[in-house]
Amino acid sequence: MTQKAGQAPEPSFRESVDIMFNRAVALMDLSPGLEEKIRVCNATYTVRFGVRLRGEIKTFTGYRSVHSEHMEPVKGGIRFAIGVHQDEVEALAALMTYKCALVEVPYGGSKGGLRIDPREWNEHELELITRRFAYELIKRDMINPAQNVPAPDMGTGEREMAWIADQYKRMNTTDINGNACVTGKPTHAGGIQGRTEATGRGVQYALREFFRHPEDVAIARMSGTLDGKRVIVQGLGNVGYHAAKFLSEEDGCKITGIIERDGALHDEAGLNVEAVHQWIMKHGGITGYPAANTLKDGQQLLEENCDILIPAALEGVINRKNAPKIKAPLIIEAANGPVTAGADEILREKGTVIIPDMYANAGGVTVSYFEWVKNLSHIRFGRMQRRQEESRHQLIVDELERISKDTSINWTLSPGFKAQYLRGADELELVRSGLDDTMRAAYQAMREVWHSREEVTDLRTAAYLVSIDRVAASYKAKGL
Ligand code: GLU
Repeated sequence: MTQKAGQAPEPSFRESVDIMFNRAVALMDLSPGLEEKIRVCNATYTVRFGVRLRGEIKTFTGYRSVHSEHMEPVKGGIRFAIGVHQDEVEALAALMTYKCALVEVPYGGSKGGLRIDPREWNEHELELITRRFAYELIKRDMINPAQNVPAPDMGTGEREMAWIADQYKRMNTTDINGNACVTGKPTHAGGIQGRTEATGRGVQYALREFFRHPEDVAIARMSGTLDGKRVIVQGLGNVGYHAAKFLSEEDGCKITGIIERDGALHDEAGLNVEAVHQWIMKHGGITGYPAANTLKDGQQLLEENCDILIPAALEGVINRKNAPKIKAPLIIEAANGPVTAGADEILREKGTVIIPDMYANAGGVTVSYFEWVKNLSHIRFGRMQRRQEESRHQLIVDELERISKDTSINWTLSPGFKAQYLRGADELELVRSGLDDTMRAAYQAMREVWHSREEVTDLRTAAYLVSIDRVAASYKAKGL
């Protein structure tokens, strides 16, 4: 914890996750041993490796942490950022466990990180570094279709995933399931349509589901639909960009603020997300963007009036210091851990509704799951259905249902997914309907706990209760 004079200590990210976990388990009837087993991180592998670059050997430090193996493979992204450290990776791995359980994808939780500023290296150098990091992890089965399946996270994308998959296949030439060793690959290299934007799409579907429940909207001191709601987005990276784009283009939201690392844009009339994104791509930041008020101290905008605040970048941006000043009645955590446990307490007392990270950003891992299933089944979704007879589709649906019964988490093919599959929908349609069904079902599971148990006053605690219960059931079924 860090303590400044006259202030309550600010818990670290890792401590925040544990505090939130403990709040939930205090309301459960778990044996202390099982509680501890679920909370702790099983293992963290640290690797330091050298790569010859620009005439000298540069040493890099990377991590892959496995939080829970109640289901395998374990799943979670690999982050490339200069601030990566062991505690952060472990906190992120823990969130992956709870996230996967909440949206019922049959994985344990994991996360990886490499201490690097990707902007310092050119593409060829990044490829050498990524392949070498992947080599170290593959050697120890920390990248493997049956054991540990990474995906993109901050600072990585489909390009890095393609390098990782290729590296795995070079080292395992006879593994027919090699493509399933990592998700988030480009579509022409074993990926699935809709994965790149999946996390942002999931944020949109989560908000749509929230606004389908007027009672919940009233708790957030609002009414009506998403149409016309004023939204401030912090971080216009992959997640923030797609969430803001879809909400403004498809749901009538007004993006009144965008916060980036070099400042912020504010316009009550609504910003054009695509234009801002293009500007950032071209100029490396929002500085100089002509069509809005520019604020030098971007973080101030977090405290501005709006209906929905979407932190979509790093952890800990909403903390004890700024939480009392946050005016948004609804926060949706598109990032992992953007609200510290200290801020969470302050905001709960103020009546701010928080749609928690483990639910809000679960769209990424949900579509990763579709990609993994596609890779393992060796079927390109959407193609065969149109060309071949319906009985083939029925066979596949039957097979997937059989598999679903074999896993100890109770996941089932949603009716929407099944219907579209049998009808011969294309891949993107399948991905979207599967994601939508998943986000709806998970919200309803959380909501049920939120509204039915008096002592549960927030969605985060409800989300933890649902997840921990499922993880515990899985451990118990194994006889632990
Ligand atoms: N990095 C993403 C997350 O934090 C995606 C993980 C995955 O697809 O495995 O949820």
